[in-house]
Amino acid sequence: MKLLIMGRPGAGKGTQAANIKEYYHIPHISTGDMFRAALKNQTKLGLVAKEYMDKGLLVPDEVTIGIVQERLLEDDCKEGFLLDGFPRTIVQAEALEKFLKANGIVLDAVLDINVPVDILVNRMVGRRVCKGCGATYHVEFNAPKVEGVCDVCGTKLIQRADDTYETAQNRLEVYDKQTAPLLEFYAERNLLKTVDGNQSLEKVFEDIKAVLGA
Ligand code: ADP
Ligand code: AMP
Repeated sequence: MKLLIMGRPGAGKGTQAANIKEYYHIPHISTGDMFRAALKNQTKLGLVAKEYMDKGLLVPDEVTIGIVQERLLEDDCKEGFLLDGFPRTIVQAEALEKFLKANGIVLDAVLDINVPVDILVNRMVGRRVCKGCGATYHVEFNAPKVEGVCDVCGTKLIQRADDTYETAQNRLEVYDKQTAPLLEFYAERNLLKTVDGNQSLEKVFEDIKAVLGA
């Protein structure tokens, strides 16, 4: 399975990506996670990305495209992969298309998790992530068994620096301007599969499996 997962910020991409990764045995490649890991390690890439992430803006294409291409050439991507949060601009989508073609890689589908915009700020502001394993929770909709502690690995949960009310709103605006046009880009290529993301976490995953036909 060679997949992209799209959707507005907070739509549930990361949450469903964890299910897809486990079910289809493919690596989950999230550009947001890559930038956050780089920042944790205080690399140049991480420090550049932080400037943009803190404001809810997109990291420049020339930085982002390179790290994804490098990652896709690693051995674990040979049988499949799930790209989450990339591409986010038409320039990125065109670069990805060119790269995939040059390497003889064919996408199976582009999943779009569709959620109405008005509920997304609440999803982002209530999001908590595990510092250790990266698992995602929500204080109300997907609470851990023990408040503030990861069910999977027992590590402390934190709130992402960009999950503030104001930054979340900026990210939704950026999505509409720069990322939403990609839906048509992939619909034209007959790859787009839209799933209703305004349902329980379990039902969204059932629908994903149904549209992927497996
Ligand atoms: P994205 O990766 O698209 O930004 P996440 O997967 O991190 O989104 O989900 C954003 C927040 O919404 C998280 O706190 C998550 O627990 C919660 N969430 C995800 N899917 C659902 C759902 N179907 N219903 C309610 N809350 C959800
Ligand atoms: P995410 O974890 O997908 O919500 O992404 C968090 C932030 O990382 C975004 O708001 C951007 O600042 C940055 N980012 C992630 N993916 C990309 C991308 N493909 N292009 C540009 N910036 C990105």
